[in-house]
Amino acid sequence: MRKRLSRRTFIAAGLGAGAAALAGWDTRPDVILYNGAILTMGTRVREVEALALAGPRVLAIGTSAEMLALAGSGTRRVDLGGKRVTPGFNDAHSHPCDSGVALLTQVPLEMNSIESIKAAIHAKAGATPPGEWVVGFLYDDTKTPRPLDRADLDTAAPDHPVVVQHRGGHTAFVNSRALALAQVAENTPNPPHGEYFRDAAGRHNGRVAEQAAGAILELAIKPPSREDYRKGAALISKQFARRGITSACEADGDPAVLQGYQDARDAGELMGRFYTHIDFGELDKMIAAGVHTGFGDEWVRIGAVKLFADGSISERTALLSEPYAGLGDFRGISRASREALYEQARKAYLAGWQVGTHANGDVAIDTVLGVYEQLQRESPRRDPRLRIEHCTLVTPELVRRIKAAGVIPLPFAGYVFFHSEKMHFYGEERLRHMFAMRDFLDAGIKAAPGSDYTASPAEPMLWLRSEVTRTDANGHTWGANQRITVEEAIRCSTVHGAYATFEESIKGTLEPGQLADLVVWDHDLLTIDPTSFLTVKPERTMVGGRWVYEA
Ligand SMILES: [Zn+2]
Repeated sequence: MRKRLSRRTFIAAGLGAGAAALAGWDTRPDVILYNGAILTMGTRVREVEALALAGPRVLAIGTSAEMLALAGSGTRRVDLGGKRVTPGFNDAHSHPCDSGVALLTQVPLEMNSIESIKAAIHAKAGATPPGEWVVGFLYDDTKTPRPLDRADLDTAAPDHPVVVQHRGGHTAFVNSRALALAQVAENTPNPPHGEYFRDAAGRHNGRVAEQAAGAILELAIKPPSREDYRKGAALISKQFARRGITSACEADGDPAVLQGYQDARDAGELMGRFYTHIDFGELDKMIAAGVHTGFGDEWVRIGAVKLFADGSISERTALLSEPYAGLGDFRGISRASREALYEQARKAYLAGWQVGTHANGDVAIDTVLGVYEQLQRESPRRDPRLRIEHCTLVTPELVRRIKAAGVIPLPFAGYVFFHSEKMHFYGEERLRHMFAMRDFLDAGIKAAPGSDYTASPAEPMLWLRSEVTRTDANGHTWGANQRITVEEAIRCSTVHGAYATFEESIKGTLEPGQLADLVVWDHDLLTIDPTSFLTVKPERTMVGGRWVYEA
C-alpha cells in the first residue's frame, strides 16, 4: 500500500532540496512528466520542466533531472517533448448536464440558414408522432440572415408544436401549435417577467422571452430520465476533456442533475469535476437534507444557490440603465424584484450557502450588490464569496463595491469574439465597461470567466482569443481597454475558477499537493500570435493523474 503523505509533506517536497529529501522516502511517484514547459500558475515558481505525480496529485515539481531522480522501478516516465503544459481549464459558469441531455434528445440548430433549420425540424417532425413536441436548441437569431419566426416553424412542422431554444437559454421561437397548447391567444397579455414579441401588425411573431419562454419549455420538455442525466453528464465531460476543460461550475442544477454527475462518476464515465449550483426552487429540499455549499468531494460538489435578477446579453434582455441601441426604449427584462431577491438570498445565506445570482445589466448588478451588502451588514459571515454570475456591464462605482464586498464576478469569456454581431446593440461606449476583465484584475478582484455553454462554446482557446484581443472575426475591436494578457487569462480560468468554488487549495495550480489536472497543448499558448489561438488544441488532458483525453 502506498504510504499516505500529509499535505505538509507534499508542500515540503517542493523543489531542489525538498525533492532530494524525498528521494530517501520509500514512496515513489507513479508518473513523471518531464522535458516540458510547464506553467504552474503557482506563487513560488512560474515554470518548471517536470512534475512527479503520486496517485491523483502532484508530488513534486522541478527540473527533469530532479524529478527523474525520484523514479522507482514502477514509475512511468512520460517525455513531454518540450510541449507547453498548463493546469486544466475551469469553465466557471456553464450548463453542462442539461446541454448533454439536450444533445441526446433535441435537434441541434447551430446553423446559419433558415432553410437548413426548417429542414432539420421537418426531418425531426417526420420521426415524431403528430401532436408531440419537437424541441430544438443551439439556435442563434443573429447568425441567420433574419430571425426565425412563427411562420417558418408552421411550415416546417404544421402538425407538431415546435419550440426552438436560443442558445443563450432566455428566449425561444415557437409555432402556432405551441402557442395554442400554451393557451396564448393574440390578446393574451405578457406574463410577469416575460414577453411575447409581436410583428408590425401586432400579431405574435413566435419569439418569446424569459418567463414566457420558460412556461412553454416546461410544457415541451419531458422530464429526462435518471439515465438521460447520467449519459448527458458523461457525454459533456468527455467533450470538455477534449478541449482542455477539467473543471466546470454547473450553473443551474437541481437534485436530478447532481445525481446525474454522481451516477456518471460512479460508472467511471465522468472525465472532469463539477461544482453544481442548485436552483432556488430546490433549496428547501436541500436544507431539509442537511447539506449546503461545499458538500461532496473533488469530483462532484454542491455549489451555490442560483438566483436570477435579469435577462441575457446574447439575447438582448439584460436590464440596462440606458436603452439598447436600435430597439426603441427597450431596456431589458427584470426576472425578480429586489424584495424577492433579498428574501431568496437571505434564506440561502443564513443556511450557510454561497449565493450565485445571475445579473448582466448594470441595473441588475446594482440591485444584487445591494442585497449582498445588506446581508453581510445584517449577518456578517466570514468569506462567503458571494457570486454575481456574468456581471457583464459595470461602472467604476460597481467595481469598487464588488471589491469591497469580496464578491466574485463570473464574466462571459468568449462573447466579444463569438457574439460579436450582437455588440452593436450595446455600442462602442458601453463595450468599454462590459466583460470588464481589465477593470476587475486592476481592482484585485478574482474574476473567473465562463462560457455559459450552450450560450457560447466551451472552448478555452476562443476565450483567450476574446479576452486577449477584444477583436471579433472581422477584425473589429470592442473595448480594447479591457484587454488582458495571455497569462492573466489563463490565471483567471484556472486559479480564479478554483477560488470561485472554495477549491484553490486543491486545484488551479500545478504545485505539490494539488490535484494533477493538466493539459498538454500542441502549440505554445504563450508565444503563438493571439489571432491564431483557435488553431491550438490539447494533445492530452489529465484529470487526477489519469489521461482522460489523448489526441
Ligand atoms: Zn448560465
